[in-house]
This record gives sequence, C-alpha cells and structure tokens, in this order.
Amino acid sequence: MKYKRILLKLSGEALMGDNQYGIDPNRLAEYAQEIKKVVDLGVEVAIVIGGGNIFRGVAGASKGMDRVQGDYMGMLATVINGMALQGALEDAGMLTRLQTALKIEAIAEPYIKRRATRHLEKGRIVIFGAGTGNPYFTTDTAAVLRGIEVGADVILKGTRVDGVYTADPEKDPNAVKYETISFADVLDKGLNVMDTTAFTLSQENNLPIVVFDMNKENNLLKVCQGETIGTTVY
Ligand code: UDP
Repeated sequence: MKYKRILLKLSGEALMGDNQYGIDPNRLAEYAQEIKKVVDLGVEVAIVIGGGNIFRGVAGASKGMDRVQGDYMGMLATVINGMALQGALEDAGMLTRLQTALKIEAIAEPYIKRRATRHLEKGRIVIFGAGTGNPYFTTDTAAVLRGIEVGADVILKGTRVDGVYTADPEKDPNAVKYETISFADVLDKGLNVMDTTAFTLSQENNLPIVVFDMNKENNLLKVCQGETIGTTVY
C-alpha cells in the first residue's frame, strides 16, 4: 500500500447521485463498497464530507440570509451527510465513529484528536462532521486541517472530475490532465484544486493532495495501491 492513513474528502454533491439535491442511497452504498476495499487491506480511513447537496452558506447569503447563520446551517448539513455515510458504512460491515466540530452529543462524539487517532489505529473509520466548526471556512479546509492533525499521509479528493487539467475540461476540449504538479505550479498557473485557505494549509504542511474520480469503480483502491490515477499535487 502506498498510503497507510488517508483523509478522504467527499463533496456533498457527490452524494446526490443523479438527483438534483439530497442523498442517493444507491450512491452511498457504492461508496461504502469502494471504501471497504481499502479498509479490508488495512488502510486507515478518515473522511470529511461536504454539505453542498443540502445547504451552502454563500448561497443563503446571496439570497439575503445572514452569512454566519447560513454557514452554521451548512455545517449541520455536513453532519446529516456524515450520519448517512456512517449508516451506509456500517451496513456494509465496517466499524465507524462520527466526530463533530460542533457538539451534538446524542449523535456524535465531539472532535478529539487523540481519540480520533486511536479509532484509526483500531481500524475504525472516522468521519469528521461540521467542517472546522467555524463560519467562513469550507469542508476542503476542514479536510486538510483534520488530515494534518491525525497525521494522514495524503488528502484524497474524490470528485466527478478525474484530476487537475490545464483548463476546465468541461469547457475546453484541448485541456490536458496533469499526472503530477507541484503546489507552486498550481498557484503560478492559477489552477483550481481547492479553495486558497485549504490549498495553502496543505502546501505549508507538505501534505500531498490527490484529485481523482471517486465514481469510477476501484479508483480509490488503485490510488491507495500507488497507481497513477487522477492528479497528485505535491
Ligand atoms: N461550512 C462552514 N465552515 C466549515 C465547513 C463548512 O461554514 O468549516 C459551511 C459553509 O457554509 C459551506 C457549507 O458548510 O458552504 C457546506 O460545505 P462545503 O460547501 O464545503 O461542502 P461541499 O462543497 O464539499 O459539498
């Protein structure tokens, strides 16, 4: 295995499947199977999940809502997704813990770094909900922050796009995918991997990011086995 401990970042939108919003149970079950393949091989898995399929603070603010209020709603959306994912992972026979940055003790443990690390050592999947617990941040930043805290070897950003391209591949037919690219080159070329806060946090702490297509069967497994899938930012 190339990686012993991974931080998998899944966007909220990924959970929609073919729906326009919300959670698609089939997609959840598929993800659980993909995750099981690496757990069975002994990879320690921490997960940060987004909330964009339910609520985004910025979207609320653009319609006149208070930004901070909206951001907390967005954080709660990530908890809902985390619970859904937890259920799917447990249905597939995996051990899990949900830890949240905002305390909701009836349904999740509060985030405690040492405890999270211990769960990982014991082979439990730890899902981190409620982002960083602060408004004006994103779940990408939460993913990098938690990844650094629990000593993950890599951030695996599972998306619909299969890597980082020279231009937006959905708009430019001549766009070419990078297999690897340095943090500095991403900044130089103005490419979009994560938001700036998340990206610089990763760069400053030398935590590589792999952007890959999570919807393709066995891709997560291949990334963990060291195959060249997606784009590695180092
Ligand atoms: N959010 C926040 N602080 C955080 C993480 C998330 O305020 O540390 C809020 C923010 O409003 C964001 C929403 O939660 O729009 C959902 O998260 P995000 O947009 O990152 O989810 P994704 O795009 O990955 O689905």
